[in-house]
Amino acid sequence: MDAATADQSVIGMLRGLGRAVILLGPPGAGKGTQAQRIAQRYRLPHLSTGDMFRDHISRDTELGRKAKPLMARGELVPDEIVLGMVEDRIEQPDCTNGFVFDGFPRTLNQADDLERICKQHRFGATIVLHMVVQKDLLMRRLTGRRICLANGHIYNIYERPPKQDGVCDVDGSELIHRQDDTESVIGGRLHAYEQQTQPLVEYYTQRGLLESVDAMAEADAVTECIAKILDGVIASA
Ligand SMILES: [Zn+2]
Repeated sequence: MDAATADQSVIGMLRGLGRAVILLGPPGAGKGTQAQRIAQRYRLPHLSTGDMFRDHISRDTELGRKAKPLMARGELVPDEIVLGMVEDRIEQPDCTNGFVFDGFPRTLNQADDLERICKQHRFGATIVLHMVVQKDLLMRRLTGRRICLANGHIYNIYERPPKQDGVCDVDGSELIHRQDDTESVIGGRLHAYEQQTQPLVEYYTQRGLLESVDAMAEADAVTECIAKILDGVIASA
C-alpha cells in the first residue's frame, strides 16, 4: 500500500462510507470473505438476513412471530417481512457509517425497497460490487474441493493439492469429495444464480451503482481492488 492509499484509508475510517455496500457474486466467488474484510477495514457491520431472522425470533418480536412458522415450514419469508427486518436493522446506531450486505437483495423488488429505505434514512448512493468470475475457472475451483474427514481441512486438487493424493497433510485423514461439489450440482447452482442475479446486475448498472471486481484474482488482490473503489468513493464524497 502506498502512502496516498494509506492516507485515504485513514480518512475513510474517520469519515465512514455512510452507505450500503452490496456484494453480488456466485457461490465460490469469495463474497463472504471479502464482505468480512470490508466490514473490518471500514468498521461497518456485516449484515445477513439469516442473522436478522434469528435475532427477531429469539427476541420474539412481531416480525419474528410472523417469520417463525414460515421458516419452520421451509417457506419463503415474504419481502414485506424481510424488508421490515432490514429497515429495523439499519436504523441501529452501528449502521450510521454504512453497512455491508452479501446475499441480499436477491430480487428486483428487494433491491428497489432497499434503495427506497436507504434514501429515506439519508444514506449515500449504494455501492454494488459485482464479483465477476470466469465460469470454467469457478467450476474448477468448486469441483476441485476436497475436505478432510477428521477435521474439515480444505484442499483443492488444482489450486492447493495435498502432498499425497487423498490424504490430509495435517492429520493424515482421508480427503473426501462432497456430493454437493460435483459438476452437475454446481452447474445447477451457478445457472440458478445467473438467472436470479442478471436482473439485479442490470438494475444497478442502469442506476450507475455497479462496480465490477475481478473475483478470480488472489483474495488479497481482490480486497485491494475493492478498497481502491471504496477509498475513491470516500475521497470524492
Ligand atoms: Zn485434516
